[in-house]
Amino acid sequence: LDNSVPLPSRRQDRSLPPVPMPRADQAQHSFHNTPDTDPSLPANRDWGRAILERVPSCTLGNASVKAAFINDEAMLDAAIAGAVEKGKGWGELSGNERAEILHRAGEILESRRADLLEVMASETGKTIDQGDPEVSEAVDFAHYYAESARKLDEVDGATFVPAKLTVVTPPWNFPVAIPAGSTLAALAAGSAVVIKPAKQAARSGAVMVEALWEAGVPKGVLTMVQLGERELGTQLISHPAVDRVILTGGYETAELFRSFRKDLPLLAETSGKNAIIVTPSADLDLAAKDVAYSAFGHAGQKCSAASLVILVGSVAKSKRFHNQLVDAVTSLKVGYPEDPTSQMGPIIEPANGKLLNALTTLGDGENWAVEPKKLDGTGRLWSPGVRYGVKRGSYFHLTEFFGPVLGVMTAETLEEAIAIQNQIEYGLTAGLHSLNSEELGIWLETIQAGNLYINRGITGAIVQRQPFGGWKKSAVGAGTKAGGPNYLAGLGDWTPATSTA
Ligand code: GLU
Repeated sequence: LDNSVPLPSRRQDRSLPPVPMPRADQAQHSFHNTPDTDPSLPANRDWGRAILERVPSCTLGNASVKAAFINDEAMLDAAIAGAVEKGKGWGELSGNERAEILHRAGEILESRRADLLEVMASETGKTIDQGDPEVSEAVDFAHYYAESARKLDEVDGATFVPAKLTVVTPPWNFPVAIPAGSTLAALAAGSAVVIKPAKQAARSGAVMVEALWEAGVPKGVLTMVQLGERELGTQLISHPAVDRVILTGGYETAELFRSFRKDLPLLAETSGKNAIIVTPSADLDLAAKDVAYSAFGHAGQKCSAASLVILVGSVAKSKRFHNQLVDAVTSLKVGYPEDPTSQMGPIIEPANGKLLNALTTLGDGENWAVEPKKLDGTGRLWSPGVRYGVKRGSYFHLTEFFGPVLGVMTAETLEEAIAIQNQIEYGLTAGLHSLNSEELGIWLETIQAGNLYINRGITGAIVQRQPFGGWKKSAVGAGTKAGGPNYLAGLGDWTPATSTA
């Protein structure tokens, strides 16, 4: 957590123009986080309602997705060759020149906030309160990586040679921020990009890509494709011109990508199975609220979401935390995003497989504190579930589900709770609720996760303040944290300045 940077104002009124981003030469801190929309302002609530009224008939992105659809080998080959060719000119721009275009992209993305919220809600069911910080994050990535691009020019003793062609394969759960972040990072580094938005969220990706084109990223430098999994592997990822792949998705997808090509230069943020530990010293009211939000925000469909809460000692034995949690969860209003009162939206597709199993079946010794219910015939709308009695080493303890279901586990000591979490093969996010500094020290020393959160929820990383990346099976391949100071360095190669190459 970088506390040297001033906190942004979180009170943006959308009836006023956005606060402009200070540029490197204008301010002591050349970057500040873009404020989210403040829902306590009546003007912003009107603004949000107007967006939601458009959701059922949303057509944003339709034409562009069709236009960019490449399903034919010859077209794809031509697109790759074009990207490599145009990419040379892009890579030869100075970091300052690329930064200007990226800053403009940030401004255009900010000006399209309402459109991005509309298309995300229409396509993926994301509610406005979940989508709004996502747009802020996309805007932040643009301005932050713009400033990172300038810094690449300033490194003494080495020259940065950007990747020629970066393939970006983002997920559907953050259909704007993740594709934007990966694409903007590669562009900032000086690489051409071919992006394949997730098929469930292709229109959201397209609206984002159009903003970048409009900002001045040449079309051939940034190309958008839609491909089936097989074509993605055989025609794109295996293509010799591709020298970086940025993937955000499941661990199995990273393995699949590797099976397409053994020497794949991959930067991947993969699965998570994350826990929040609550000790007896914690502020239990705050803990219950943070656990509920981390588990059920965007219906639990975040790699960063809390899938487990581990209660230590007396927290497990008393009814206090239990009652707080059950109250917080049962009072969540579940519904489609078109209804502005919805707090938890639908899941991306009808529950099936592992997730359906987790929503309907209990393991040995488990019982429902809050039983999930299917709320309509679509199979997409489920009320949240909380299961007690999850045993160490059980299926629920160790498996990622990616949906609105939380498991409660107990431990005698903090050390035991940490061991329970560290037994999981993933290590993406982890949370501790404790007001005891000795406990904080023990946890910080021993917990195995890439992103650590103390006395707050475990979702919603913020560019620059909380760079985001995994550990153990939550990361595959090379890579540093997205939204952090070293991310661009992995998107090219370094040669000593004395080299004649
Ligand atoms: N960066 C997101 C967060 O901090 C999670 C991204 C993901 O789900 O992949 O909540």
